[in-house]
Amino acid sequence: MSQTSSSENLTLVIGAGLAGLACAFELAEKGKPVLVLEAAPYVGGRTANWNENGMEVESGFHKFIGYYTLLPELLERAGIDLNEMLFWEKSMEARHPDAEEFGEFGLDVVRAPIKTLLGALGNNSYLTPADKASLIPFFTAGFKDYLSDPEELDEIPLNEYAERHGVTKQALERILEPLSSGIFFLPPEQYSSYAFFGLFAPGIPRLHKMRIGAFSGGMTDVMCRPLADAVERLGGTVRTSAPVKSLIAENGSVVGVELENGERLKAANVVVAANVRRAQKLVAEHFGAVSWFAPFFELEAMPHVTAQFELTEPLLPQDRTTFGPGTQLGSFGEQSRTTFRDKAGRTSIILVDPDALIDLPEEEVWQRTVESLTAIGLDGIDKATDHRIIRGDENFYRLSPGSEKKRPKQITPIPGLFLAGDYTKQPFLATMEGAVISGQRAARGILKN
Ligand SMILES: Cc1cc2nc3c(=O)[nH]c(=O)nc-3n(C[C@H](O)[C@H](O)[C@H](O)COP(=O)(O)OP(=O)(O)OC[C@H]3O[C@@H](n4cnc5c(N)ncnc54)[C@H](O)[C@@H]3O)c2cc1C
Repeated sequence: MSQTSSSENLTLVIGAGLAGLACAFELAEKGKPVLVLEAAPYVGGRTANWNENGMEVESGFHKFIGYYTLLPELLERAGIDLNEMLFWEKSMEARHPDAEEFGEFGLDVVRAPIKTLLGALGNNSYLTPADKASLIPFFTAGFKDYLSDPEELDEIPLNEYAERHGVTKQALERILEPLSSGIFFLPPEQYSSYAFFGLFAPGIPRLHKMRIGAFSGGMTDVMCRPLADAVERLGGTVRTSAPVKSLIAENGSVVGVELENGERLKAANVVVAANVRRAQKLVAEHFGAVSWFAPFFELEAMPHVTAQFELTEPLLPQDRTTFGPGTQLGSFGEQSRTTFRDKAGRTSIILVDPDALIDLPEEEVWQRTVESLTAIGLDGIDKATDHRIIRGDENFYRLSPGSEKKRPKQITPIPGLFLAGDYTKQPFLATMEGAVISGQRAARGILKN
C-alpha cells in the first residue's frame, strides 16, 4: 500500500512511551494537530502491561518517586488521579544472603519520621556503625562533585569512587549495590558515579516528598492509556500497531515518515520518541554524516531482563520495594495487594547484569532467579504456578561512565526533526520523569517555531 496524506502543521510523534505521549499532550493542549505512531499494539513502551502468552505482565518493576514533579503535574492535567493510580509505600527492605536479618528503611520523612530515622540509625545487624560512617564522606563528596564537576564524575565507575572515599566493602555491597544495580541493573564497576548521585540529587531539596509509589494496576491501564485518551480528547490521534520504517527527508529537512506498511505521511515536524537504538537507526539513515549527531550515534544501549511470576500465595508479607544485593535480584516486590490484585501471589523482579542474561535460555534465567530467592530465604518460590522472563534489548542508554556527554538535546539542527526519550539530555536519567521532561522539551521546541 502506498498512499500519501499531508498536513501543513501536523506533528508526527514516533513512539507512544511516556516521552511521546507527554510531547503529544503538550501539543494537543495548545491546539496543534498531532498524530502518534506506536509500533506495539498497546501504548506505554517501557511503562506498559500486556498479556504475554496467557499471563498478565508488565515491562518491569516500576516505582513512582515522590520527588518527581513534571510527571505528576502532567498526569493531573490529563485528569488522572494520582491517589487512585498509586499506593504509597512507607518503607523498603534489603535482603543479603549473608546478613543475619534484613535491613528495613523508612521512606517517608513527613508521614513516618520515626521509622525513617530508625532505618538510617538502626539496622545494626545489617550494617555496622562503621559501615554507616564510611558512607558519610562518600555522599558528601558525591553530591558536591555532582554539582561542581558532573562530567568528571561521569567518567568514574561507582566502585572506584566508593573506594576513593573509604566506603567499606560491606557498605558497598549492602547499600550502594542495591541503590545502583537494584535500580539500573548494572554492577557497580560498570555504573557511572554521575548516574548514582544524579538519581538522588533532585530529592535533596524535596526530602519531604521522598516516598515511593507502587502502581495500582498495570501501567498501560492506569497511566498510559488514560494519558493517550487525554491526548485524543484534546484532538490528537494515537495509532497503535503502526511501526515507522523510516523518516522522509527532502533537501536536508525532515518532512514526514514512511510506515512499515508503505503508508507515507507528510508533516511539518517529526518527533522521534522511539527507544535509543531505534532512534539512532532512524536518524542515521539520512543524517549519519551530520557531525551534531556523532556523539549520539556512539551512545551505547543496554538490555534489561525481568522475572515475573504468579503464586498460590504472596511471596512476601508486604507489597514494598525489596532489594537483593549479593544475588541476581536487583529490586523486586510482591504485587498481589497493589498492581495485580486479582492474583493470590504475584512478584516482579528486575535482574542484575542483564548483559550476562539477555541471551540465556528462559529456563536458565528462571533457575538462577529461583536460586537467588532461595539464597535470601524466600522459599515460598516453590508456590509459583506460572512465570515469564520479560526482556528488552537496547531500549535503555547505558548508564556507564562516559555516556552523559553523548546524550543529544531534543532540538536538533535538522529542520522538522526533534528527539524525545529518556536517553536525551535531561537531568532525570532513564526514568519516567526524565521521559516526560524530554517530551515536553521537544514540544516546546516545536511551539517556539
Ligand atoms: C524494568 C524496568 C524498570 C524501570 N523502573 C523504573 C522506575 O522504577 N521508575 C522510573 O521512573 N522509571 C523506571 N524505568 C524507566 C522508564 O520506564 C523509562 O525511563 C520510560 O518509560 C522511558 O520512556 P520513553 O518514552 O523514553 O521510551 P519508551 O517507553 O521505550 O518508548 C518508546 C516507544 O517507541 C516505540 N517505537 C520504537 N520504534 C518505533 C518505530 N519504528 N515506530 C513506532 N514506534 C516505535 C516503542 O514501541 C515504545 O513504545 C524502568 C524501566 C524498565 C524497563
